[in-house]
Amino acid sequence: MSVYVIGHKSPDTDSVTSAIAFAAFQKGQGVDAVPAMQGELNPETKLVLDRFGFAAPEIITDAAGKQLMLVDFSDIAQAPANMNSAEVLAVVDHHKIGDVTTNSPIFFYAKPVGCTGTVLHEIYKSNNVAIDKKVAGIMTAAILSDTVNFKSPTCTPADKAAVKDLAAIAGIADTDGLFMDMLKAKSAIDGLPINDLLNRDYKDFDMNGKKVGIGQLELATLDQAAGVRADLVKAIEELRASGRHTVLFMLTDVVKEGTELLVASEDPSLIEKAFNAKLTDGAMWVPGMMSRKKQTVPPMQKAFGC
Ligand code: MG
Ligand code: MG
Ligand code: MG
Repeated sequence: MSVYVIGHKSPDTDSVTSAIAFAAFQKGQGVDAVPAMQGELNPETKLVLDRFGFAAPEIITDAAGKQLMLVDFSDIAQAPANMNSAEVLAVVDHHKIGDVTTNSPIFFYAKPVGCTGTVLHEIYKSNNVAIDKKVAGIMTAAILSDTVNFKSPTCTPADKAAVKDLAAIAGIADTDGLFMDMLKAKSAIDGLPINDLLNRDYKDFDMNGKKVGIGQLELATLDQAAGVRADLVKAIEELRASGRHTVLFMLTDVVKEGTELLVASEDPSLIEKAFNAKLTDGAMWVPGMMSRKKQTVPPMQKAFGC
């Protein structure tokens, strides 16, 4: 039986490339590992796989009866359906530990670094396994993506060191250039349906019994979103009204290093308190906010009394 190596829902570059890289590592250990993902490639990830010569992994949305290795998450909410009848054999991650449980001891490897790609780099190195040139290319891209070219507060010295090593293996002379190509691909939003933009990087969280959704769109400049802003505001209010306490949508300006936070909430004053800023027409500018995980989720959890 094949073992599926799979990343989280709303696949991002790290979750897809880490599935490919960890499946390659596992294959080298004799495991019949197959990379998988839970949805279509986003434009950034498509550019990365095209550039380094990989096909899109198989899409798996139902885990019933399957053996899985999880990369870039360990939350049931971010897993395929029917996890209760799946067997998790390994987890490699860089997030807080989620609520996936197992009946047997497993390989569980997580570190507080900027990217699962960095964790995988360490796994390859500590096992003395050579990294394939193409695999090194997509791992480089994942680290640049997750750390926003080293500017995210989640970035650590280990991420920078991993990129240095991986880019050399992959023969990438200009990682800034690769990052800009990825940023342009990911931030091109012209003509895309609002729901695609909303779901591009969206996660639901349980905060003290309240359902809170947080989405993010990373832009080269906020002006890119001007034409769709009103429709986004409407869409997040509809999403909130369909059973959530709050939906936040981060329009992150990667160059200016800050986020315009669009807010739909049963209690907007709670959000103002969380970020110590005032809402104007359901939005606030939060300077320096780049990372949902480090800068948006923790203040929200605090505000909700988690
Ligand atoms: Mg991810
Ligand atoms: Mg990641
Ligand atoms: Mg991400």
